[in-house]
Amino acid sequence: MSGDAEARLPLPRRLARRLGASVRLKLLALVLAPLLLGVPLLLGLVWTWGNEAYQRLLTFKISSDLVTAHEYFDRVREGVGQDVRGLAESNRLVSRLGTADPGELGALLESLAVRHGLDFIHFLDIDGRPLAGSLGNPPLPALRAEWPVVAAALAGAAHTTVERLSPQELERIAPSLRRRAYLPLVETRAAAPDPRTAEERGLVIHAAAPVYDARRMLVGVLEGGVLLNRNLAIVDRLNAIVYRDGSLPLGSRGTATLFLDDTRIATNVHLFEGTRALGTRVSRAVRERVLERGEVWLGTAFVVNDDYVSGYEPIVDGRGQRVGMLYVGFLEKPFREAKAMAMGALFLVFIGISAAGTLFSLRWARSVFRPIERMNAVIARVEGGDAGARVGALASRDELGRLAGEFDHLLDTLQAKREELQRWADELDRKVAERTAELSQANEILRRAQQQLVMSEKLAAIGELTAGVAHEMNNPIAVIQGNLDVLRDILGPAADPVRQEIRLIHQQTDRIRQIVTKLLQFARPGEFAGYTEKVDVNVVVSDCLVLTRHHLERSAVKVEMRLSAVTAVEINRSELQQVLINLIVNAAQAMTEGGTLTLASEDWVEAEVVCGVRLRVRDTGHGIAPENLSSIFDPFFTTKKGSGTGLGLSISYTIVERYGGRITVDSAPGAGTEFVLHLRRDAQYEEAPSAPGFLKRWTVDTPRV
Ligand code: ADP
Repeated sequence: MSGDAEARLPLPRRLARRLGASVRLKLLALVLAPLLLGVPLLLGLVWTWGNEAYQRLLTFKISSDLVTAHEYFDRVREGVGQDVRGLAESNRLVSRLGTADPGELGALLESLAVRHGLDFIHFLDIDGRPLAGSLGNPPLPALRAEWPVVAAALAGAAHTTVERLSPQELERIAPSLRRRAYLPLVETRAAAPDPRTAEERGLVIHAAAPVYDARRMLVGVLEGGVLLNRNLAIVDRLNAIVYRDGSLPLGSRGTATLFLDDTRIATNVHLFEGTRALGTRVSRAVRERVLERGEVWLGTAFVVNDDYVSGYEPIVDGRGQRVGMLYVGFLEKPFREAKAMAMGALFLVFIGISAAGTLFSLRWARSVFRPIERMNAVIARVEGGDAGARVGALASRDELGRLAGEFDHLLDTLQAKREELQRWADELDRKVAERTAELSQANEILRRAQQQLVMSEKLAAIGELTAGVAHEMNNPIAVIQGNLDVLRDILGPAADPVRQEIRLIHQQTDRIRQIVTKLLQFARPGEFAGYTEKVDVNVVVSDCLVLTRHHLERSAVKVEMRLSAVTAVEINRSELQQVLINLIVNAAQAMTEGGTLTLASEDWVEAEVVCGVRLRVRDTGHGIAPENLSSIFDPFFTTKKGSGTGLGLSISYTIVERYGGRITVDSAPGAGTEFVLHLRRDAQYEEAPSAPGFLKRWTVDTPRV
């Protein structure tokens, strides 16, 4: 795929494609995936579990705090009940009930209220009408029998409840109580809207107990209570019990509150420094859950101006109605910060581990993919033609390192094999070229042999014809010559006028005879082979010079002789003479303008053995053209048109070879010619001498020139 086409693919597919094409990326993905996926996953789990455990821990803590607060509040309530019951049963009070006037009784009740920490004490008659009260001024004449605790006491049972009293009811108990209960409402964030500007009702721990005379007759009811509005002593005590010093870690602050409905009437939660959050209200969420549905709230809640880990439970009055709430809680911020710090530290540790793991993984993965990348690069270089490219030494000692080593070894072997193959191919080429040359040479030989065979057959036919004709011509020639001699003898002096003509006839007839003889010698050389003897070559040379003198003199040729051979050769003397005369005459004919003929003989020694005589016939004539050099031993080859027969050298070659010798030529145009004869001391005959000499020579060997 081209780069452009790949660039058009969507990113995930592009990444997958890249990943599929690179071992490095695959390995990195393999190594980093557990880290980069696993660590965040682990982090997520730890975060979730941590949060859950943290919440559970806080919930558990606030739950137990709320239980403690509840018990304390119950104890306070029971304490009020016990105080009232104790007073109702005390002799001092009972003995004074019948005797004392209301003023005296009021003073007594006042002192008892102060002693027992009660906000008010009333003595009611058996109809529930107040007869005397603790707060100095006599209580308003109103029936109290509708109040549950009073009703229960009139029925003979001491009882204690928490009651929500209206401002009028408070007024009826004592105007001062109403004033104390009064709390201006403070605008609070997250609270349910309330059109009122102040809370005028009061939350009271209300207790009543029957009073009996000495005869155990019910004489009235002692009713008392504690106003909880602004009752800071109770909440501070409650707070001190639930959150003793040092019970909250991390500098968190414990708080406790009593609510009337959703309004804080006694609390140690501070609005700002030095001012308690009295008159502020609970959040709408808590109000709905606790006040409206009657459930317990355990968890984080927004309290006045901050988040608190909070526990709220409803406070139920004597009629079973939810009239307020008990709250304890502590500031969540330090815990949240501690949790954040712990999580942050955990996060940093995870990040550190991930980074270290990633670095280590990268280094480790590098040691894995490095040999692969090096091998891949070497493959590319080898494909590019660099046969010597190798992976080389690697630090890795694992399977991949060994694989890279084996890869180099494989490449070495491949290269060696390739070089060997190349050598073989070169050798093969050379051999093919050699064989082709040999073949073409053989073809050439064959072609020439075929030509020569054809030629030979023609020549053989000519030879046969020539031999027949020559043979037939010998007799007429002999008759002509005989009769010419007879004619000359008979005529005697009468023949003088034609003597010249007769001499010419004789001369020409003799020439015909010589030609016929040569023809016969050419056609049937075997018939002319004479007996052999040991011949002194030097003597034959001298004889031949005499016989050819007139040829040499006619061309003014100077003769030089260096005859140093001492060995006699086995040959037919007249045949040797014929060969030499032929060579000398040819030399003379080549030097028509004069020159030097050199005749030299020496012993022919090979490997320190005397084989025979080497004879040189050298002239300084016009020489032989290179194109003719290979043809001069051929029968009928002549450059002497009209005067030559072209048989002289052919016959000479046949004669010399017949006795195991050889004849060679060396010539250059203008520089003269040299024929060298090697004549054997002991003649060596060839095995099949029957074939005509020229034919044998052509088919068996080519002349050495
Ligand atoms: P012919 O002499 O009748 O031509 P040969 O067989 O003796 O026949 O010689 C063949 C040819 O060789 C000659 O025609 C001549 O061209 C060449 N030849 C032989 N000897 C010599 C020489 N010494 N110098 C130059 N050419 C020579």
